[in-house]
Amino acid sequence: MAEKRGVLEVPDFMTVRELSELMGVSPIEVMKQLIANGVMASINQQIDYDTAAIIIEEMGYVPRPLREVEEEKRQAELEAQRPKWRTELYATEEMENLQKRPPVVTILGHVDHGKTSLLDAIRQTRVADAEAGGITQAIGAYQITYNGNKITFIDTPGHEAFTAMRARGAQGADIAILVVAADDGVMPTTREALDHARAAGVPIVVALNKIDKPNANPEYVKQQLSEIGLTPDEWGGDTLVIPVSARTHEGLDNLLEAILLVAEDADIFANPNSKAAGVVLEGRVESGRGAIATLLVQNGTLKQGDVVVAGISYGRIKSMFDDRGNKVKEAEPSMPVSVMGLSEPPSAGERFEVVKNIKEARSIVEERLQASAEAQQGPLAAMSLEDFFKRMADAERKELLLIVKVDVFGSLEPVVRSLEELSSDDVKITILRSDIGNVTESDVNLASASGAIIIGFNTEVDNAAERAAAALGIEIRTYNIIYKLIEDVELALKGMLDPVYEDKQIGTAQVRQVFHISKIGNVAGCYVTSGVVRRNARARVVRQGNVLAEGLQVTSLKRVAEDVREVRAGFECGIALDKFSEFEEGDIIEFTVRERVN
Ligand code: GDP
Repeated sequence: MAEKRGVLEVPDFMTVRELSELMGVSPIEVMKQLIANGVMASINQQIDYDTAAIIIEEMGYVPRPLREVEEEKRQAELEAQRPKWRTELYATEEMENLQKRPPVVTILGHVDHGKTSLLDAIRQTRVADAEAGGITQAIGAYQITYNGNKITFIDTPGHEAFTAMRARGAQGADIAILVVAADDGVMPTTREALDHARAAGVPIVVALNKIDKPNANPEYVKQQLSEIGLTPDEWGGDTLVIPVSARTHEGLDNLLEAILLVAEDADIFANPNSKAAGVVLEGRVESGRGAIATLLVQNGTLKQGDVVVAGISYGRIKSMFDDRGNKVKEAEPSMPVSVMGLSEPPSAGERFEVVKNIKEARSIVEERLQASAEAQQGPLAAMSLEDFFKRMADAERKELLLIVKVDVFGSLEPVVRSLEELSSDDVKITILRSDIGNVTESDVNLASASGAIIIGFNTEVDNAAERAAAALGIEIRTYNIIYKLIEDVELALKGMLDPVYEDKQIGTAQVRQVFHISKIGNVAGCYVTSGVVRRNARARVVRQGNVLAEGLQVTSLKRVAEDVREVRAGFECGIALDKFSEFEEGDIIEFTVRERVN
């Protein structure tokens, strides 16, 4: 047995040559060792991990699956991404003013795995019995006390709520509970929920639900969890996996204890003496009561009489209620309250803050209205690969988030690996999700929530995904040549990727008559033969197949005597062009617009 020489990271498959390079020995030596172990392999033949591991051990090294190493690295990177709202909130606070606050917990998981039942079970055991006859109101969140510690639960299960909140940059939760039914195991939405929690950088506790069921198979599910990077702590991992039953209430105490344990390690602070700020969980209008908003206080203490601004809604808080419908005068950090007195219901996920007075509130809202009117005329705010460099120019930490979809398993690893290799000290590439299959709506939602760009390799984009991407302004880039994909991302990182435009024909018109108008010159009386003719399009004049002039501006477009912006096929119009007036009857005018193609 040779001396122990160190750890080598080994991929699932590698050639004999690669193995020899990894160990720094000649391929012949490796082949000899293989033969000694009964394997005949040529220099370029692929061998699997197990075979490679045997040879590596015989040569005195310790093999480690590369997959495991990469997963650890990915975990560490995600861990390092602290949610921004916390840093922002604390940025203005002196360390000595910060105090621990109750953790805010959100419950995620696959449909029917028991999110609602679990939220109800926790609420029933911890809230309802304490409040004899008390009416428990559904306000989007509730707070319980366990062993003298408060915990806030966001009562809008499903990652839809999480996505909407994150999309507005207002990550409300400190801890995510991932519910997995012990009789059903890890499902696609479980993985999706996990991606969201990881993108938000919040710690995850797994609730292994439905353990009362006879067909529950917790050990199998733990195995599945390990495969998606959630190795249970009892197996040497660092994920708390708590068996529970929302039906029999078994294990609920353990779950609450696990939450407190994780909360202890997380930076969950606030300054209760500061002006209140936080996130809107829900906004609605009730007849006779006006706009009602549920607010989750994240920093400071919210008081009755405070003036609040949330998005474009503002007002002085007239009255405030806790999650049990009790009137309260103050709300401390992590406490959810519903408030009355706002001008209109704010949207869920919007940030709120307390300001000096109504006058200040009004001027903030006016500014926002103005900015949103301007933004609507400008380009969409979502990230695109071309914008990356510009946007990141003054960011403290430059990071490009990607979602990668490919057609087959075999191309997943090379694509992901080549992308990750582009990471440098200056810019980090984080792949939030990499998977096989079409680009789906769920990918677009994740991109929207995290500011990621979607890259498809040899794959299609679902219709629903296309619609959602258009509505949210999310960029999906598809490629079928890997080097082109890598090249684009590389250029984007350097700020050298220019958008590509193409001229697209939108309509044609035929000249039927030519008029001379003294101040304008010649005007073509036309009939629109196809598509649509637009005032802001570019024109090209074609006579018997020959292009006479192109790229011309339309100086005048009239229907009857009126200036119009467009005229559709089947109608007549008058057209005058810049720098061209030598129209003849029968000329064709083609209209084009410039469109971005990638
Ligand atoms: P959600 O879609 O994740 O919110 O799941 P629900 O809470 O609506 O639960 C889905 C179904 O599973 C319902 O029929 C519940 O009664 C049932 N269920 C939830 N938790 C448990 C449990 O711990 N044990 C059993 N036996 N059934 C459960």
